[in-house]
Amino acid sequence: MSADGADYPAMDFTRAAYDRLLSAVVGAGYQVLTLRRALTGADMELPFILRHDVEWDLKRTLAIVEIEKGHGVRSSLYFRVDTKVYDLPAMRRLQDDGFEIGYHYNTLDRCQGDFSRAIALFEQDIKRLRDAGLKIDTVIPHGDPRVKKGGYTTNEDIMAKDPELPARTGLLDINAGIAARFPGHQYVRDLGIRWNVAGSGRELIAFIREKRWPAIYMLTHPDYWSASFLRAVGLQFAARTLRGFGLNRKIAAVRSIATPRSVGPDSGS
Ligand SMILES: [Zn+2]
Repeated sequence: MSADGADYPAMDFTRAAYDRLLSAVVGAGYQVLTLRRALTGADMELPFILRHDVEWDLKRTLAIVEIEKGHGVRSSLYFRVDTKVYDLPAMRRLQDDGFEIGYHYNTLDRCQGDFSRAIALFEQDIKRLRDAGLKIDTVIPHGDPRVKKGGYTTNEDIMAKDPELPARTGLLDINAGIAARFPGHQYVRDLGIRWNVAGSGRELIAFIREKRWPAIYMLTHPDYWSASFLRAVGLQFAARTLRGFGLNRKIAAVRSIATPRSVGPDSGS
């Protein structure tokens, strides 16, 4: 909170704030794109590539998706397959609605650094997603600094170990594609429940309105965003103070104070 009380950081990560943010994006004339469209579609003015890493909670993701539908825009959603968010029918419905479904992989974490098992699991996961009717053209590695890593640095290391893997699995190269097609883009993300390029959501909206960046690539995590102001405040507080905790433990800690007990499961989140 700033000294004058005008900016509550927690208010940056409510669904109402996300709605305001998208209003600014669309109002400024940015063209919201999925990764697939950004990499394969025609060039355009003011591209705004919109990506979400979907970690744990489908309901929170669907709430973000509804806001996007309200603005007539579509994003790319990268799903974990090893958490309760792995829900193939829901992913198919999102795809039918025009969203891009991608695979948020962490197979080295899941295989304790065993590269050959991690690569085989990666290919198996992609096959399973495609067999379920999902068009998987892009993947994003999951990064969790708390996972102890033996013999590797990030989940993406499988790509360096097996350079044929993306071509063999028919995947687009996001890093090379974005660098080539959008050389001056600004990467904007909500890592640690804080904007990397602005001191507040209000400031980010001001930057967007003035079209400060000719191309934007934005990443958000739907799990970080709250319907209730109380959860947003709690999560913001937890992100700043419970430094030794992983975010999911922070969320669990916050849930106990931010969820009213007398109402249904949807109401407090
Ligand atoms: Zn992730």
